[in-house]
Amino acid sequence: MLIDLSELLSHEDKEKRLSYQLEMKEFETSFAKYPVSMREPIELVFKGLGKKKILIESDMKLVLMIPCDRCLEEVEVQLNIKTSKETDLDEKNVPDDEKEEYLSGTSFDVEKFVYGEILVNLPMKTVCNEDCKGFCNRCGTNLNHGECGCDTTELDPRMAKALEVFNSFKEV
Ligand SMILES: [Zn+2]
Ligand SMILES: [Zn+2]
Repeated sequence: MLIDLSELLSHEDKEKRLSYQLEMKEFETSFAKYPVSMREPIELVFKGLGKKKILIESDMKLVLMIPCDRCLEEVEVQLNIKTSKETDLDEKNVPDDEKEEYLSGTSFDVEKFVYGEILVNLPMKTVCNEDCKGFCNRCGTNLNHGECGCDTTELDPRMAKALEVFNSFKEV
């Protein structure tokens, strides 16, 4: 949805508030797609600060399903994001590399804005549980569901032999 902010430019201290239901059903990056399992309407406040400057405040809550880094089971990751930024709607005053993607003239693109906010607030690490045991690196069993019986204390002798041969080839 596009919101026209031009009315905020005419008067200082003018305010526009709205509540917006996000359409995004999946959050997609260049390397992953996370389903959005819950989203509350986003609260947005725009304030005219005079001289074509505006303040954008937002408050959003949503839940993304992100796979655990160790066992790949989906984890509900709740994001509560509050932002407050000042923007200059006079394009002449903003260098090209600082232009916001969600602004085009006086038009504000809510979905693009939200996308950018989620992206910078994504957790660096996601684990289903701090004690997640992950996968057995021999047979691929999810070790949170039980032991697979593999001997993980030392390499299988046949495997060790194969590795030795492999490494000797690599050195040549
Ligand atoms: Zn896990
Ligand atoms: Zn195993």
